[in-house]
Amino acid sequence: MTDRKALMADKKRVVVKIGSSSLQHGETGDLDYTKLDVLVRELCNLRNMGMDVVLVTSGAIAVGQKAVLPQRAKEEDNPIAVKQACAAVGQARLMMIYQKIFAEYNQVAAQILMTKNTIVDNLNRYNARNTFEELFKLGVIPIVNENDTIATYEIEIGDNDTLSAIVASLVEADALILLSDIDGLYTDDPRTNPDVKYIEVVEELTEELMNMGKGSTGSSVGTGGMTTKLQAAKIANSTGVDMVIANSKDIKVIHRILSGLNIGTLFLAHRDEKFDLPLYVQQMHACDK
Ligand code: GLU
Repeated sequence: MTDRKALMADKKRVVVKIGSSSLQHGETGDLDYTKLDVLVRELCNLRNMGMDVVLVTSGAIAVGQKAVLPQRAKEEDNPIAVKQACAAVGQARLMMIYQKIFAEYNQVAAQILMTKNTIVDNLNRYNARNTFEELFKLGVIPIVNENDTIATYEIEIGDNDTLSAIVASLVEADALILLSDIDGLYTDDPRTNPDVKYIEVVEELTEELMNMGKGSTGSSVGTGGMTTKLQAAKIANSTGVDMVIANSKDIKVIHRILSGLNIGTLFLAHRDEKFDLPLYVQQMHACDK
């Protein structure tokens, strides 16, 4: 059995990803300020413990849509251009709220918006990595999202599960925590199959596992299902990052996971020297086009 306490003991650089559905009240679609507050407090506390921390947050489109098109119930009802306009409004609003809460805890936060090109282009990637490093040195918490207003949504990185793994890989993080509306990885969809088994640890991402999450998605907001989480695990694990998927219903799982408690599904890092991040990102979705 994996000794999670020992594994987590020396984590110094952590990326945390939170999805749109975890930030909203299910019934109204409005932001859940209590959750946001707990999230920010958890992250500030990790920072106070001396860790380098990155937050990858979704919510730009959802928050923007609430502001300018409140009558539309679902993100996917909107054409791409409308989603991008919503993101332009929502990203600024989201950052305003984050800045306010981070400031309450005396913590400086920064915004980094990325596209596929940030990774594929050598100079952009180099600059992005340097910026992250400088921010860590300054004790700042970078808040990352995809630059949805200029990235053509579906054909760019497209989901923040993958984006967070790319970021974790870029900054050579020790751990990536994906907070989602599911407890972890199951052998099948637990909402439709009562006989599913919960998987505590994934020692190795086999072909069989990679195929397991195909076609699953949890909610009407955000873009991540199990497929994107497994893709994230592939990127993170291949570049030496341990990853945990856990349920965001209690945000305090963040420090519990990092203290080594057996929460969520742990995907163990297996550094693959042949894994080429820019090439992998370049080829992502290539078969969908
Ligand atoms: N970047 C999108 C947003 O902020 C969300 C993508 C995702 O949910 O994975 O709205």
